[in-house]
Amino acid sequence: AKAEGRDMYAFFSLSMTSRARAVLQVRHELRRAVERGQFVLHYQPQVDLRSGRIVGAEALVRWQHPERGLIYPGSFIGIAEDCGLIEPLGAWVMHEACRQNKAWQDAGLPPLIMAVNLSARQFQRNQVEQLTGEAIAASGLAPEWLELEITEGMVMQNVELAIEVMQRLVATGVRLSIDDFGTGYSSLSYLKRFPIDKLKIDQSFVRDLGQSGNNPAIVTAIIALAKSMELKVIADGVEDQSQMAYLRRQGCDEIQGYYLSKPVGAERFAPLLAADGHY
Ligand code: C2E
Ligand code: CA
Ligand code: CA
Repeated sequence: AKAEGRDMYAFFSLSMTSRARAVLQVRHELRRAVERGQFVLHYQPQVDLRSGRIVGAEALVRWQHPERGLIYPGSFIGIAEDCGLIEPLGAWVMHEACRQNKAWQDAGLPPLIMAVNLSARQFQRNQVEQLTGEAIAASGLAPEWLELEITEGMVMQNVELAIEVMQRLVATGVRLSIDDFGTGYSSLSYLKRFPIDKLKIDQSFVRDLGQSGNNPAIVTAIIALAKSMELKVIADGVEDQSQMAYLRRQGCDEIQGYYLSKPVGAERFAPLLAADGHY
């Protein structure tokens, strides 16, 4: 048993070492990728359930790794936050999303609201409204066509400060939405004080909708809450017709999800927008 323990320890420490090495390697590659601009934004449509029209798009970042191909944000955003790379990466995302939205408008496509994800760190550092202002100015996009997605967790760490940051952002003319709504712990009394436009129902609640026997109570409650507070409400992660039908019956304003489209590159998004109304 003792030998076994030692082996286990040896194995453990070896794997720890290689894990630590892997983290360092990824950081190194990520830093280089930021310097070289090896990222691309994909866009996922947000569709109004009454008109069937695309009214928004969420910008989602991907890393175009020269050897490993397209890497999804789940495997690098956290690392970028840990090693201070989220600021330059987040700045690139903000500028590129605004630039692209303005380019579509200039090309005569129907205007839409571009939603950009903020990381906790970007939100806590006070430069987020400066960055937003710079991206708006550089692109020439009117600020009402930009929406920033923040999560409950980002806000609840320091509510009073967060409300100030949100108010300063809103003063620049952009919109705010609360992402992953229902998974955090925002108290309803605070929610009333947030200068937000929209709630985004988290995918985990939407997923339950299709399953027979599962209780749609949370989705129904969030939609009712949004209505009573005169907020728009969008359901994320809609994957099938029955989920869409349920959300429409409940009066949900908008949906986003694979059922309509996966996130796609700009060159594939533009035709979706041009064919507007086909959903
Ligand atoms: P999120 O903000 O909750 O974004 C929605 C995620 O769900 C996206 O994954 C999207 O591709 C995926 N999704 C959309 N519809 C469906 C569906 O019907 N079914 C399923 N199973 N998934 C769906 P993605 O692009 O991998 O992004 C993951 C997360 O990475 C995002 O979650 C967001 O938190 C973060 N992220 C992405 N881009 C950025 C960025 O530019 N900045 C920051 N700070 N975070 C980002
Ligand atoms: Ca989001
Ligand atoms: Ca989510």
